[in-house]
Amino acid sequence: MALTDEQIERYSRHILLKEVGVKGQKKLLNGKVLIIGAGGLGAPAALYLAAAGIGTIGIVDADVVDLSNLQRQVIHSTPDIGKPKVQSAEESMKAINPDIVVKTYRTFLDSSNIREIIREYDFILDGTDNFPAKFLINDACVMEKKAFCHAGILRFNGQLMTYIPGQGPCYRCVFKDMPPKDAIPTCKQAGVIGAMAGIIGCLQAMEAIKYIAGIGKNLNGYLLTYDGINQEFHKIKLPNNTCKCAVCGEHPTITELIDYEQPTCELKLGEK
Ligand SMILES: [Zn+2]
Repeated sequence: MALTDEQIERYSRHILLKEVGVKGQKKLLNGKVLIIGAGGLGAPAALYLAAAGIGTIGIVDADVVDLSNLQRQVIHSTPDIGKPKVQSAEESMKAINPDIVVKTYRTFLDSSNIREIIREYDFILDGTDNFPAKFLINDACVMEKKAFCHAGILRFNGQLMTYIPGQGPCYRCVFKDMPPKDAIPTCKQAGVIGAMAGIIGCLQAMEAIKYIAGIGKNLNGYLLTYDGINQEFHKIKLPNNTCKCAVCGEHPTITELIDYEQPTCELKLGEK
């Protein structure tokens, strides 16, 4: 289908790029991206994916907007406090671009629902902040043969990698298994600089856009880390032979999804 005059104008800065053009923009408009978590990472990713004209964007989050979210979750505004995050995110995305379809899932993902939800999408963004969710998303994407971008942020550090089926290691190849309880603090416990969410969330959006439009190289086979204190990016090549893990290897021992327990210990704000 031909682009309308309005679409040609809206997406003109994409269309001007030889790597995108009308053909690439049509791929974006036909693309379906699922964002898991409407928080620090999901917020900037969702805004840029909506603006880019990703035709269908799903967003999953069970929470409501809290005052302490607003330091980094830029898709939500002060009047949204108390509102379901998926609703607030949908309103912001539709305000930027009414051209797209937004599907909201106000739910926690677990082994019972994740595979069905991710099945209809082309690319998945992991914008979650806890290890049970990260392993669940990885394993579900491996089982459903879906490409996804993992990211994590804490304090002044961020990292991301992309999994593409058959093209490099998965998250479990690299990070093996759940860390021991309380070995790694959460953002709620340790803090995070707000702009970190913006940087890493935008890099995730870039991964999705490139994958959908078929442009350049994705971060499959690499871990990109960002140190905000020293302003340093490192792109680390992941060894190919790690791709033999319990879920993506030739003889997987994990063939059912696992609902790991959420860590229970959470420091109260201000506690030392
Ligand atoms: Zn693996």
